Amino acid sequence: MGTGLAMHGAAPVRGARPWPPWPQPAAGAGAALLDVLHSERWSIASPCTGEPTREQRFADEFAAYLGTSHCVPTASGTAALMTALEACGVGAGDEVIVPALSWAASASTVLGVNAVPIFVDVDPHTLCLNQAAAEAAITSATKAIVVVHLYSALADLDALQAIAGRHGLALIEDSAQAHGARYRGLKAGTFGDVGTFSMHHTKVLSSGEGGAAVTDNPNLARRIEHLHADGRVRSADFAGVGMPELVETGELMGSNRCLSEFQSALLSAQLTDLDRQNAIRRANAVLLDELLGELGLSPQRTSPHTTERTYFGYAAALPDDVLRTVPSDVIARAVTAELGLHVRPVYQPLYASPLYDPSSRPRFAISPEHLKQIGPGGYDLPVARQAAESFLTFHHSALLGDASDMRDIAEAFRRVLAHRSRLAR
Ligand SMILES: *Cc1c(COP(=O)(O)O)cnc(C)c1O
Repeated sequence: MGTGLAMHGAAPVRGARPWPPWPQPAAGAGAALLDVLHSERWSIASPCTGEPTREQRFADEFAAYLGTSHCVPTASGTAALMTALEACGVGAGDEVIVPALSWAASASTVLGVNAVPIFVDVDPHTLCLNQAAAEAAITSATKAIVVVHLYSALADLDALQAIAGRHGLALIEDSAQAHGARYRGLKAGTFGDVGTFSMHHTKVLSSGEGGAAVTDNPNLARRIEHLHADGRVRSADFAGVGMPELVETGELMGSNRCLSEFQSALLSAQLTDLDRQNAIRRANAVLLDELLGELGLSPQRTSPHTTERTYFGYAAALPDDVLRTVPSDVIARAVTAELGLHVRPVYQPLYASPLYDPSSRPRFAISPEHLKQIGPGGYDLPVARQAAESFLTFHHSALLGDASDMRDIAEAFRRVLAHRSRLAR
């Protein structure tokens, strides 16, 4: 004992040196929050003060950052996806194609608008929706495709746009993990009919909880606005100080999915630091790709025509010969012990995830046939399954360190792989 692996009592690769913190408040964030605190305006439903709301300011800034015409901030990424689906007319009984490998919200939001998620296999290298499999899954009931840019990859947007166009389907681009990424020079989130973002604690742009839906289509933007603010929209004319700025049009019934003024103010501050942080993460990931590649790992790839990656998570596949002797979750625990950094397998396929169980909620059990249709049974998507068994990932905050941090990560993998016979099945 005492030699070999931290898991078995040896000194770990990484001593007491901490990893970069997350989230990191940007310059001006504290002042902006205090400003809202004393502004008598904590919500977009508060009486008009004569100034634009913080929500409106952030919406304009984020739309300009992305190069899109309309942005509606929302309470979460989940809320953004629900409003996007409903804005595109998805509803009862419609089928929506979603990638099998994603966060639970990709499936729960489709159920949330009373539609049926159809899980589709992913590409083995990018882990994003496989375009051929997506096209093969289209039926006369299909209404939309939700594409997810996963961890650090962009999906094949050229192919998916073409498929959606050919079949008259809405394309929703879930960019919850891709703020600032570029495809053919344009920002992720601007390729679908609607792009959605999450500003959850974990994401690269964060206000703790939050989200946004963006679009170039003014009709969709108006629908999204109604859907997120209980059927109200911002008045086109100055409302007058002390008067409500939201107009009850009754055009389209909505729900309350609004972002608070505190979160909007925080996001405006955080947005000013996004490009700098993305660049650091990107540079460190390039170094790590090289170091882990030398050990036989295969870093996640992105689609052709990606011009700039955003790292929400770093992901790489373990070598086949290692996987034949040791399960990836055991390697993940051993590397975690070396680094004091949470390294884990990527998402389970949604149909096999403990987080996907429509039968546990009576609201989804419309009829026995419906329950069978939305149930996880019947799926076995081999690429998603193999990815879940071979790829490991860790959070982007570790990529905000320096080259010596990347060398620690590579050294931990080297040591664990060298001692893998002690971990064998
Ligand atoms: C985080 C995330 C969501 C959900 O966002 P929330 O803000 O947590 O509701 C949806 N899709 C993907 C791909 C995500 O990573």
